[in-house]
This record gives sequence, C-alpha cells and structure tokens, in this order.
Amino acid sequence: MKELRTRALVLRTFDQAESDRLVHLYTESLGRVSAIAKGARRSRRRFPGTLEILNLLEVRLIEPPRTSLLRLEGARLERPFERLANELRRYAIACHFVEILDRFTGEHESNPELFRFAVGVLDVLADEEPDPLLALLIFVKTLAHLGYRPQLQTCSVCGRSLQAHSGSVAFVVRQGGAVCRACENEEGSRVPATLLRAIEEGIRTPLRERGRLGLSGPAVGRAQLLLDRFSHFHLGIQLKSAPFLRDILRQERVDSGPPREDTASAPGGS
Ligand SMILES: [Zn+2]
Repeated sequence: MKELRTRALVLRTFDQAESDRLVHLYTESLGRVSAIAKGARRSRRRFPGTLEILNLLEVRLIEPPRTSLLRLEGARLERPFERLANELRRYAIACHFVEILDRFTGEHESNPELFRFAVGVLDVLADEEPDPLLALLIFVKTLAHLGYRPQLQTCSVCGRSLQAHSGSVAFVVRQGGAVCRACENEEGSRVPATLLRAIEEGIRTPLRERGRLGLSGPAVGRAQLLLDRFSHFHLGIQLKSAPFLRDILRQERVDSGPPREDTASAPGGS
C-alpha cells in the first residue's frame, strides 16, 4: 500500500454507505482525486471539522491494492476559508470556482501551478470586494490554466495580429476566439476590440489589481456571456452553479442603490 501526503482543497463531499464520506479533493501533487473517508460520519473525532467544502487541508492518502479509489487516512486543517461562507456573493463565486475544479479537471492530472492559483483565488476572495469583474477574471484565468484560453489578440483562423483593429471584431466560439476581417464569415458575434483587449489584459493582471483595467459593469456582463458560450462549447459542460452565481451578482447590482455620495447629499440624509 502506497501512502501519499499532500495539500488539498475540499471540492465536494457525499455521504457514502452508513458511516463513510466520499470526498472530492483538488490536491497539490496529484490533481483532482476522489477519496473515501471511512467512518467519517460515525465518528466526528476521526475528521474533526476538516471535511467541509472550501477547506484547505494537509491530507494523508492511502492507495489500496486492486482498487482505484484512494482512502483518506488523515486530514489536518491548514486554512478554513470560513469567511467565504459569511457573504453570499463571495460564497457564490467560490462555489462556482470549486465546481470548475471539480468538473473541468481530469482525475489524477497533476497541475501544482493550478493548485497554487486556486489557493490564491480563495485568498483574494476572502478579503476583496466580490464584484462581477472579480468573478469574470477568476473564470477566464482558470480557463487559461486549463488550456482553454480564448484567442483575443490574434485571428484564430490565420494568426494575424488584431492589435490594429478598432471598432468591432468578430468572435467565433467554434474557432476559439477573435477572427480578422479577411477570415470572417457571418456566424460570429461582433465584439468591441477594446473589450477583447481588456479581457486579454485581465488574464495577465493580478486579481487584486483589476481596478486598473477600467472595465464597466455592462462590459463585464458582455464578456461573461461571451466566455460562458466559449467554455460551454469547448468543454461541453454546463456548470450547475452558474445560474445561481449570475442571479446573485445581478441582484446585488440592482439592490446596491445610488452611490454613497448621492445618499449623503440627499435632503434629510445624514
Ligand atoms: Zn484571419
């Protein structure tokens, strides 16, 4: 029996049989794995407060002979990221992100860089304003980490640079991104060239510095729709958490009311 120790994020848990739990983990050294935590439901002392979604753990896994399912032997809590569950928008973005890790990554496909990115995302989410732009950038950066980076600066058919393009550019999901005028046919939707440049810059910009991208609310919404179509086509997966995330982010925009200065200067306001 082989024993492995690694850091891991808890993506999902399921009750299994009478007393066990099946846990989906994104690990630093093995990529995504499923592991069975024997007796986790019968005895709380066996895995005290560790097997909860969004927890960062240090785990001990056993690879039993003649079965592909790993056994979770021990787990130590490294970081709970409990703040993420206290605010609905944070929680919705985080749940959407872990669903991507759970469903877009291959089992046992090691990607330590993606693991470090994932921990960084939860770190940023824990203390930054959870706005729609943050959700968008987490999504597109994750796609890029998974090898599904939309082509935004060069034509996805002939490879010609689109830097000089002004006005609108065709975006053809099936081709993998932007398409120049010479290669364009009628099936693409037209997108402002500035929006494509902003998304490209967003992929390269640290999440905490996203303010300097200067992307407005409507532009963020437009980019999100484009990337949702792109990922659905190329990955063939409809994320269950996507409608929930969209609703939560939309609600917050409607409910947030006028900017603070307006409120303060309104008659009778203090
Ligand atoms: Zn072209």
